[in-house]
Formats: sequence, C-alpha cells, structure tokens
Amino acid sequence: MPHIRIFLLLLFGLNCCANSVISQSNCNRDPKIDKLVKKALISFRESNFEQSLKISRTALNAATLSKDFCLISRSYNIIGANYNELSDIDKAIFFYKKSLYYANKTSNDSLKSNLYNNLGNMYCFEKKQFDEGIRYYKKSVAYSLKINDLKEVYFTNVNITWAYFDIENYNQGYLFLKYINSTKNKYSDGSTEVIVDMLNAVYLSHKNKNTAANTFFLSAIEAGKRSGEKTDLSNVYLEYSKFLDKINKHKEAYQALVNHNKISAEVYNEKKLKKASIAGIGLELDEYKRQIDKIESEKVEQSQSLKKSRIIVILFILISFILLFLIVTLIKNIRFKKKHNLELLKAKEIAEEASLLKTQFISTISHELRTPLYGVVGITNMLLEEHKEISRSQHLSSLKFSARYLLSLVNDILQINKIEENKIVLENLTFNIADEITVIKNSLSFLSQKNNNRISIDIDPEIPEYLIGDKLRLSQILMNLVSNALKFTKDGQVEIIVKLSRVEGKLNFLHFLIKDNGIGIAVVDQSKIFEKFVQVGRKESDYQGTGLGLSIVKRLLGLFGSTITLDSDLGKGTSFSFEIGFEHDLVKTKNIIDEIEVDLTSNEVYRILVVEDNLINQLVTKKIIEKNNYICKVVDDGFGALKILEDEEFDLILMDINMPLMNGFETTKRIRLLGIDTPIVALTAFDKDEITDEAISSGMNDIIIKPFEPVKLFKIINYLIKEKSAV
Ligand code: ADP
Repeated sequence: MPHIRIFLLLLFGLNCCANSVISQSNCNRDPKIDKLVKKALISFRESNFEQSLKISRTALNAATLSKDFCLISRSYNIIGANYNELSDIDKAIFFYKKSLYYANKTSNDSLKSNLYNNLGNMYCFEKKQFDEGIRYYKKSVAYSLKINDLKEVYFTNVNITWAYFDIENYNQGYLFLKYINSTKNKYSDGSTEVIVDMLNAVYLSHKNKNTAANTFFLSAIEAGKRSGEKTDLSNVYLEYSKFLDKINKHKEAYQALVNHNKISAEVYNEKKLKKASIAGIGLELDEYKRQIDKIESEKVEQSQSLKKSRIIVILFILISFILLFLIVTLIKNIRFKKKHNLELLKAKEIAEEASLLKTQFISTISHELRTPLYGVVGITNMLLEEHKEISRSQHLSSLKFSARYLLSLVNDILQINKIEENKIVLENLTFNIADEITVIKNSLSFLSQKNNNRISIDIDPEIPEYLIGDKLRLSQILMNLVSNALKFTKDGQVEIIVKLSRVEGKLNFLHFLIKDNGIGIAVVDQSKIFEKFVQVGRKESDYQGTGLGLSIVKRLLGLFGSTITLDSDLGKGTSFSFEIGFEHDLVKTKNIIDEIEVDLTSNEVYRILVVEDNLINQLVTKKIIEKNNYICKVVDDGFGALKILEDEEFDLILMDINMPLMNGFETTKRIRLLGIDTPIVALTAFDKDEITDEAISSGMNDIIIKPFEPVKLFKIINYLIKEKSAV
C-alpha cells in the first residue's frame, strides 16, 4: 500500500516548507495573509484538513487580490498537501503545480525545493512514474543545496532512498541510505526516525542480514508507537510482515499483517470522514471562478490590446495616407522637376546660343575694327616716316595714339573673351627673364618719360639663364602692371623686382614685385579694380585706359595657377606681386631654340603676291614688303590672283580672308587645284584660333594676324620659302 507512505513523505516537505515559510523573508508579504497561511499550516499539521482548507482558501483569495505570488504559492502548496493527505492525488498534483508556477515567479528557492520534493513524492509513489519523480527530487536537492539547506537535502534523500527501494533498486537506494545514516544524528527528528529505521531494516533484509534487520524493524515499531504516527506504524508493520514471511516466521508475519490492517483501517476511516466533511468547501468552484476571473482579465487585456491594435490600425491608415500623399507629392515634384529641367535645358541652350552669339559678335566686331585700324596705324606710321616735317604734329600723334588705344581695346576685349571661353592654353617657350623685362622697360620708355618716372630692374642672379614657360602671357602681365605703375606715378620711381623664391625639382618659382611710389589706391577700391571696366577716381583728362588691364592680369595669372597680391596706400604708392613656377630644363630649352631658329640672314629678293580687297591695307602691306626690298604685286580679289598666277611665279602669297566674290579659303583651294604649291599665308584680322582649321584644310601654310609686326611677317616668309626650297 504505497499510497500510505506518501503521507509521511509529504510531511517532510511541509515540515521544510513550514521552516522556510518562517525563515525565508523574500516574499513581499501582507502580514494578514501571512498569518492566515501560517494558521492553515497549523491546522494541517493537526490533521484538521477541513479547517486548513478553509483558511487556505481565504488566504489564497486575499493573496490573489494583492498579487502576492509568494503567498499564492504557499496557499496552493498547503491546499495540495491537504489533498495529498486525503489521497486525492490528481488534485494534489494540480495544486502543487499551481503552487510551483507562482513560486517560480519569486526568488524563494526554499519554496521551490519543497514543491519539487512534494511533486517527486506524487510521481514516484502515486503515479508510479519513477523517472519523472526522481527528476523532481533532483531539482529539489539542487535548490536546497543552492540555499545550503542540508536538512531539506536529508529529507529528500530519505524519499529518494525509499523510491529506489520501492522499485527494488537497492544498490542505488543504498548510496542515498549511506548518506542518510551518516547525517541522521544531525537532521533526524521523530517523524523521520521511524522511516529511516524501516529503510535500514528493508536493506538489511535484502542483504539477508536478518538479525540486524529484525532489530531495525523493532526499533522502527517502537519509534512509531512513540510518535503516534499511525501511518508510519502501519507502513512498518507491513514491511515487517513481509520480512517475517521471508524468514519463515509465518505466524509472526500474520500477526504483523493484522496490526498493519487494523491501523490502516483506522487511518482510512478517519480520512473518509474528513474527506466527507470537506466535500462542501467548494475549492474547485473557487478555482473555476478564479479561472473565469483570469479569462475575464484576459478579456479586458484583449479588449485593451484590441483598442491598442485599433489605434495601431488607425495610425497605420494615417501613415499610409501620409505616405501616399508624400508619394504623390514626390511624383508631382519629379514631373515638375522634369519640366523644370527641360526648361533649364532650354534656358541652358539659349544661354549657350547667346554665349556663342556673343563670341561671334565679339570676333566679328573685333575683325571689323581691326581691319580699318590696321590701315589707320599703318598709314600713320607711313606718314611719320615719309614726311618727317609733320612728325611733330600734335594731330598726327593724337591720331596714332587713338588708333593704338582702339587697337589695344579691341585686343583686350578679344583676349578677355578668349580667357572666359577657356580658349587660351599656355605655351612652352624658352626665355631669359632679364631679356624679357628689358624689352618691356624699353617699350614703355615713352610712358616713363611722359610722367618723368625712372624704371629700375632688380633681377635675382640665382635665377637660371633659361626658363621654359609662356613668356608672351608673362610679358602681357608685366606690361599691364608696369604701364599702370607708370601711368599712376609722376616724377617717381617704378621698380621691377624678380626673386627666386624656391626651387621644387625642375620648377623655379619666381616672385615678381612691381612697385611704384605713385598716387596709390584707396582701400575701398582695392577689391573692385580687378573687375572688368573698373577705373577708380580718375578724371578723363588724366589718362586713357580701358579698365580691362588688371582684369586680364588676374585671369592670366589664374591660367598660371597663381594669384595677385595688392598692397597700396593712398598717396604713398602701390605694389603688385605674384609668384609663378617656370621649368628649368636645358635639354628642353635647346630643343625649343632649335625648333624656332629662323635664318634671317638671307639676302634673296623674293616675289610676294598680296591678295587684298581693301585699298588702304593694300597700300600698307605693299609698303612694308617693299621696304624690305622684296618685290610685291597686289591683286584685288581671288579671281585676280588665279589670273596672275597663270602667267607669273611668286615665292609667297599673302592672302586676305574676307573678300567679296570669292574668299581667301576658296581662292587658296583653287590655287592648289591648279597644282601651284607656292606657300600661302593668310593675312587676316580674324582671330587665329577661329580660322586655323579652315585655313589648313584649304591648303594654306600659315596665318598672320593684322596688324602685325613686320619682323614677324618676314620671319614667316623666310621660313616658309626656305622650307619649300629644302623639299
Ligand atoms: P586701366 O588701367 O585701363 O584703367 P586697369 O584694370 O589696369 O585698367 O586698372 C584699373 C584701375 O586700377 C585703374 O583705373 C586705376 O584706378 C587702378 N590702378 C591700377 N594700377 C594702379 C597703380 N599702380 N597705382 C594706382 N592705381 C592703379
């Protein structure tokens, strides 16, 4: 009758539980409920199950209301124990598990240990699910060890031993029995003494140590009688009867069995009575109610979460709308942008067209201006040379000055336009800085005399003799700065200082300083003067300038990757400075010099044909050529050229481009078609870059821009003729 054993085992658990209830204080306890739980426990220990269950019920309801998991767990534990005592095993397991569920929500390890022990009892002895039961016991031991409760370990080991003996696994059971015997004196009490003696007796009987077994059985019976624990005694009598039967003491065995049956019947009847009396307690009803309450509260939670999810749905819809709105706006924006981009593209095209028109306009205007200016400057020069008597004429020098001014204006506008259109690429020419600066000084001597200024040059001797770079652009920068210095200084001094500031590999960085002690520039004007057409604080009569000089200087320096620094005090003077790196490479220098070397020593008399429709220009060009002792013939147009070439041979042809009836390109093409390979040089007021391609494809050999330096013209003539005869 193993179910009787359970009663005893359960008491162990509850004993421990009772201890821990008192010792462990990590439950967040309501003192009133705590008191109720203790009362229920006392009633249980007095076997007043009805009373114990009633009080437990009240405690459980109160603990549930105050959500005190520890007290809920303890209430369920006592209820489980009561059902355990009343042999209602399923209910006992149900309430123990409930208790364990709440215990696991707390940190009360003692409580957990008790519950695992009690469930171990249920599964080992009642359900006969031994493995499951042992699993519970082991957990119980683990929790007890965790809190160092060795008494609880002792009790659980008694249970484990009994469980192993029950399935006749004496070897395993003996391991635990040994531990129990070694600690018995420390932890044993009245209730365990009976069982421990009985377990020893059972083991010794198994080992056929009958005398010793008999002694333990008798000791257990004595202890059972002393403690008044009927259940324990009933168990001992049963095991004793089995033992006596085994050793063939049948009569004594029978007597022991009678004793067992008698006590069992008493216990059974008592229980039956108690069971009947608690039938009306309605714990199950309570449990159902609690479950309904739980369902209700879940319902509330659900409706709350429903509300929440409704809010979420609303939010979702709202966000969807916003997103939709955003997408629509985005699409609209993209469409608008597309449209706008198209407009922008159109605007860009228009702007590009406008820029092209501007370029064309500037080039046409400058061409149209250059052509007559060529005549004006040329004729003025001729007059001055041929009629020395009028060379002092104020009118003539005014004419010359105005023509030159106009020419420089046209050239400046053209140059600025070219820089802005990114059409200028710096060239690599070899030069000597001292020579370049001397040329500038000489060409500005007229200006320096006019304002009674002295020009001093200071060139660092460390600077290499030959440098490579765009000397023409550099000269242009220096010309502008030095002529400004001379223009805005009277009876003063203009210094041109060039220093070698640093050398990086082949690059020699030259620092240029153009300094005057003239009128200076006011601070407010200093940032403006680099803008186009800005001239500050000057009267018309003071001087003539285009207001483009510094603007060109700044842009040209930009091409060199340099910037200009201005330092000026009104009334004290002005200095402009900048730095440019030039290459110093002797091999390269030699190559460059070799390339441009031209033999000007020729004493040949060449025959030159000039094809030009403008009568003044015809006159000027013819004069220049004849002055060099060459023979010059002039025709008015392309047809004239073709005709004269049928009869005569020339060494070189100078061809105007812009002519009526047939332009210079067309004429050149036709000349080439006739098989005439005489060098043809375009003599034009067009900008060189604009016509280079067409000139080459028509068969021309070179281009000279009007107005030109006669020296340059003869250099080209000589070079081309020499080149041709070399072939
Ligand atoms: P321009 O000399 O043709 O007027 P620039 O662009 O060269 O045009 O110069 C702009 C203005 O800067 C000049 O009109 C003058 O007022 C001022 N400026 C330039 N250089 C000097 C200088 N060395 N001393 C005083 N003023 C100067």
